[in-house]
Amino acid sequence: MSTSIDHGATLDLSRPNTHLHIGSERLAEGSAGVFEHVNPATGDVDKEIPLAGPREVDRAVETAHEAYKSWRTSQPAHRRNLLLKLADLIEAHGDEFARRGAMDNGTPLAVGTGMVTTSVEWTRYYAGWADKLSSDVTSTITADGEFGYTLRQPYGVIGIIITWNGPLISLAMKIPAALAAGNTVVVKPSELTPFSGELFADLVAEAGFPPGVVNILPGDAAAGASLVSHPKVQKVSFTGGPATARKILAACAEDMKPAVLELGGKSANIVFDDADLDAACGLGTMMAVGLLSGQGCAFPTRMLVQDNIYDDVLARVAAVAGSVVPGDPFAPNIMTGPVVNKAAYERILGVIEQAKADGARLLTGGQALSLGGDNAGGYFIEPTVFADVDPWSDLAQNEVFGPVLAITKFSTEEEAIEIANATRYGLSGYIQTKDLKRGLRVAEAMVTGEVLINGAANLAVNRPFGGLGVSGLGKEGGFAGIDEFLRTKGVAIA
Ligand code: NAD
Repeated sequence: MSTSIDHGATLDLSRPNTHLHIGSERLAEGSAGVFEHVNPATGDVDKEIPLAGPREVDRAVETAHEAYKSWRTSQPAHRRNLLLKLADLIEAHGDEFARRGAMDNGTPLAVGTGMVTTSVEWTRYYAGWADKLSSDVTSTITADGEFGYTLRQPYGVIGIIITWNGPLISLAMKIPAALAAGNTVVVKPSELTPFSGELFADLVAEAGFPPGVVNILPGDAAAGASLVSHPKVQKVSFTGGPATARKILAACAEDMKPAVLELGGKSANIVFDDADLDAACGLGTMMAVGLLSGQGCAFPTRMLVQDNIYDDVLARVAAVAGSVVPGDPFAPNIMTGPVVNKAAYERILGVIEQAKADGARLLTGGQALSLGGDNAGGYFIEPTVFADVDPWSDLAQNEVFGPVLAITKFSTEEEAIEIANATRYGLSGYIQTKDLKRGLRVAEAMVTGEVLINGAANLAVNRPFGGLGVSGLGKEGGFAGIDEFLRTKGVAIA
């Protein structure tokens, strides 16, 4: 099926063509037709994206399987050097990657530049692991003095499926670790964000990776499902929502295929009365409503505030949120853009209306935002803050993935911990206090994959990242991140 687009006055022809990258081939068409990509800052279709179908997924997996035979035994230093070259190329194309992010999902250029830096770091970090992996000597305790050791081996072909909110970062968090460990990959980016993956694939080729080691196929949910269930895919690494993750786990169950699942969050930011309120209200608020239009899995979207500073914090948060000015992602000095598409825009506005109906107190925002001019049709939403949010309400329990912050009052440390843990998610936890003993005590009690005290940044490359509960399974980052792409075999010599 092929749909055509209206080549009218609003069509931005500067969007790059995208391809299916299989081995050394760059295919301009896929058997699943095309996806009409929409510029979220204008609401206009700006490009037709060719989509992979099961046929191309199968070819890509077979190609990766063939490439694995020599890649797995290649010298670790060779893999390291190729990854370092790739990191240099990503860095050298940083401005273009920032532009691609703005094209993909409306990430402002200034924010996209920071994401490039992070992506380069992750690529260099895992390049460094390639030649530092080692195994253990195991027991010599049997009566006949058996000598044992472990082999840490790659899986083979890894199926990588990512979502749209950080198209470059998601690639950099998964592909270098998988390759450093000796796997080959077939990657399916979200069809909503094809432009970063296109440049990444071109740079993989330029860096000199053997054909077939990295295959990148734009595709929709059906292509993702084909990849997961392909018998030659040995492990799945997924970033996206819990609903899709359940389908992936169910498909993996058939062959007992392991999966890393990086899913959503509803992370609590506990603000105690001794906190540095300028820092606590500034960064936490900016992440929840001002960065990526709130479309970040680990952002602190529930703020729990001690009762004796509640009114002071509300005033500060309202001022910070009110100072966030959404704008066209290509404009200078813009830090927050549109949400990703019309479906997300309508869903988020629906959540806001439901929260009002459920009795949450609207502190600031709460409306769609019309920028006018070329951006009149864009998917902009005011940074929105609700106070007095019932911890059991839909707003407190469910991920919004939009610029909406929910504030709830608490009295005691015990109550704060109870509310923070009263969700099925468990991705990140944030604590604001000058009392270090309390910070460490609460960090120990939070049921989350990571805890950040006093505004520490998330996504440090050497700190394992990954959630509990419906936030997912497995880790990215640090040694744990590459360990996910290795399996251990015990060997014994009698
Ligand atoms: P989604 O689950 O709808 O889609 C993610 C990817 O899965 C897309 O590429 C999609 O095409 C593919 N897909 C859809 N159905 C599939 C199927 N049946 N089989 C295989 N693949 C399939 O994700 P979304 O809702 O668009 O993304 C937002 C979610 O991602 C949020 O919950 C967010 O918190 C989460 N996220 C998590 C992290 C993290 O690292 N923990 C990072 C970013 C985003």
